[in-house]
Amino acid sequence: MGGDRPGGRDPRRVLAANRPLTPSAILEGPVSICVERQSLSLDRPFTYLLAKELEAGVGSLVKVPFHGRDVRGWVLGPTEDLPTRMLEVTKRVSSVRFFDEAMLGLLRWMSERYVAPLASVILHSHPPRVVSEEQAARSAPPPEVAGRSVGTKPLGGYRNGPAFLETLARGGEAAFVHRPAPGEGPSCAAEGVLACLANGRSALVLVPECEPLPATAAAVLEAVGDAGVLFAGGDKRERYRTWLDIAGGRYRCVVGTRPAVFSPLTSLGLVWISRESHPGHREERSPHYHVREVALARARTEGATAVISAACPSAEAAVLDAVQVTPATRAWPPVEVVRPGTEGRAPRLLSALRSTRGAFVFEPLRGYGVARVCRACSEPAACASCGGLLRLESGRVSCAVCGGVGRCANCGASDFGIRRGGRERVEEWLSRATALAVRGSATPVEPPRRGEVVVGGPEAVKDFADPKLDLVAILDPDLAASRPGLASAERALGVWMEAASWAGHGGRVIVQSAEPGGAAIQALVAGNPERFHRHELLRREAAGFPAGFPVFRVSGGAGLAPEMEGLSPVSLLATSVDDEAIFLVTLRPEQVGAFGRVARSLAEKGLVTRVEAEPHL
Ligand SMILES: [Zn+2]
Ligand SMILES: [Zn+2]
Repeated sequence: MGGDRPGGRDPRRVLAANRPLTPSAILEGPVSICVERQSLSLDRPFTYLLAKELEAGVGSLVKVPFHGRDVRGWVLGPTEDLPTRMLEVTKRVSSVRFFDEAMLGLLRWMSERYVAPLASVILHSHPPRVVSEEQAARSAPPPEVAGRSVGTKPLGGYRNGPAFLETLARGGEAAFVHRPAPGEGPSCAAEGVLACLANGRSALVLVPECEPLPATAAAVLEAVGDAGVLFAGGDKRERYRTWLDIAGGRYRCVVGTRPAVFSPLTSLGLVWISRESHPGHREERSPHYHVREVALARARTEGATAVISAACPSAEAAVLDAVQVTPATRAWPPVEVVRPGTEGRAPRLLSALRSTRGAFVFEPLRGYGVARVCRACSEPAACASCGGLLRLESGRVSCAVCGGVGRCANCGASDFGIRRGGRERVEEWLSRATALAVRGSATPVEPPRRGEVVVGGPEAVKDFADPKLDLVAILDPDLAASRPGLASAERALGVWMEAASWAGHGGRVIVQSAEPGGAAIQALVAGNPERFHRHELLRREAAGFPAGFPVFRVSGGAGLAPEMEGLSPVSLLATSVDDEAIFLVTLRPEQVGAFGRVARSLAEKGLVTRVEAEPHL
C-alpha cells in the first residue's frame, strides 16, 4: 500500500497542472484514492495502480486492499506522488461517477473548511446507493424551457434589481443579498431562475425545509416545468433515482433541501438560497456545514451567481461583500409596539382582534403555563428527576428538560400552582376576544387563512403563499434575549419578520414588548435589519466570536492546550469534562488550513478525538 508523504504534493496542484479530464475519461496507472474511512487520522489520499480494463476514472467507486482488508474508496484522479510500492485497485464497484473534477474541488474545500474527513464529505454529497436503480440509469437531453414566463416579475423594481438580472443574463461569478418585499420571495426566485435558464445555464434553489412544500419551491417548479425537479424527501429509492437523473442531465433546475447543494448539475449559473437565516440550512451532524457557505464556495468554483435571500439575512450574510437587492420603496406593514397588558393582553391588541378578518398570533412558549410552586409542601416547583422546569401542556404537568412526569423534587407530590402563559393559554383567551374561529397550529402545519385566528410558535412560520392577513401579533418577544446561543436574537427576529410580512398587504402588526427600544424590535418596526446587524456584529466581536470567523469545538486528551495556543487563535475557551479537554477555538478565515493540518496530525497521534465546526450558533 502506498501513501502520500506528509507535506507531499498538494493533490489540487497536481490536478490543476493537468488538463481537466472529461467527466467520463478512463484512467490508468497511478491514481490517488480516498478510502472510505471517516477518520481524521486517515484523511489523506493513498496511491494505487488502476488498470484500464476496470474502466474507472474520477469519481468512480472502487475496492482497494487497505491494511490487509478490502476497502471501498473513490478515485480522485491521476497522481505523480509515487511511493516505492504500490498495490492495485482490485475492482470497480459501480459504473456511476459520484463526482467530477469541479465537484471534487468543492468537496475538498468542504473537507478543509470544516476539518472533516474527505470520505465523510463524499458520502454526504449524494444519497445512499440503491444498486438496482443504477442498472436502469437513464440519460436524456434536458428539456427546453423557452417560452416559459412567470406571472409577475418584481425584481426589476428592486434597488440593484436591474444589475442583478443583467448579471444572470450575462452569466458570471457574483454574490447578492436579496431581501424580498412581503409576499414576493417566491416570484423573485422564479424570476431569477428563469433569467438564468434563458442564458443556457442551470440553477439550484435551496430551501431550509420541505414539509409542507414551500411557496418558493412551488413557484420555481411551476415556472420551469419539465426542466425542474424537487430533490427533497421521498424514500431511499426515489432519492437515489432523482440524483441519478440529475447526474444524467435530465434537469436544468433543482429545488431541494441541504444535500441538494451538491446536486450534479453541469454549467451552473445560479444558486438561490431561500430563507437563508433559517436554522434548517445548517447540518447538525458531521460533516457540519452551512448551506450558505457551501453554496458561495460552489458559485466561486463554477463561476455562478449566488443569491442569499431572506426577510432578515444572517449576520454572516451581513459581513459578506455582496450587492444588496432590496425593495426600492417601503414595502412593510405598519408595526405598533405596545406594552403587554394584564397577562400579556394589551388593550390595543384586544380591540384589533375584535375587528380582524384573519390574524396570526405568534407566541414562542408551548403549553398552558409553568409550575411555580408545589401545593403540598410550598417549595418552588422543580422536576424530581432532573431539577428542570415543569410545564403544564395538554392537561398534564411534565418536565420541559427530561420529559418525565411532573413530580415535586422536594416531596414527590404532583399538584402545582401554575403561572399561566403559553400557546394553549393564548388560545383560551383569544376565543373570548374574537368572534372568529381560533386554531392552534396543527401538524402538518397549515397556512393561516382569512376567517380564522391562528396561534403558533416558530414551527408555524413557514414559507406560505402570501396569506394577506389584516393582523399579525407578536407576543413575548422579550423572551428571545434569554434564549441560549449566540444567534438567538437574530433567529427570533428572522421568525418575527417572516410572520410580520403576512400582514404586508394592507394589514398591520402589533408587538407586545416591555423594551420597545431594543435593536431587534426596532428592526421589526422598520422592516429592515441593517441597524440590528451593526449592533449584532459589535456584540459578537465583543464576545470573541466575530461573524464570518470560523469556530471549532475540539475535543481530545490533556496536552492539547499548548497545541491550540500555538495556533494564535482569535479567542480560545477551554473546559474539561471527565478526562476530556474541550476547546472552543475562533480563527481568522485564513488560519483554517493550518488548523486543519494540526488537527489531522494530532488525530493521528490520538490527541484529537473530535472536531465540530460552528457549535456556537
Ligand atoms: Zn426533568
Ligand atoms: Zn412538594
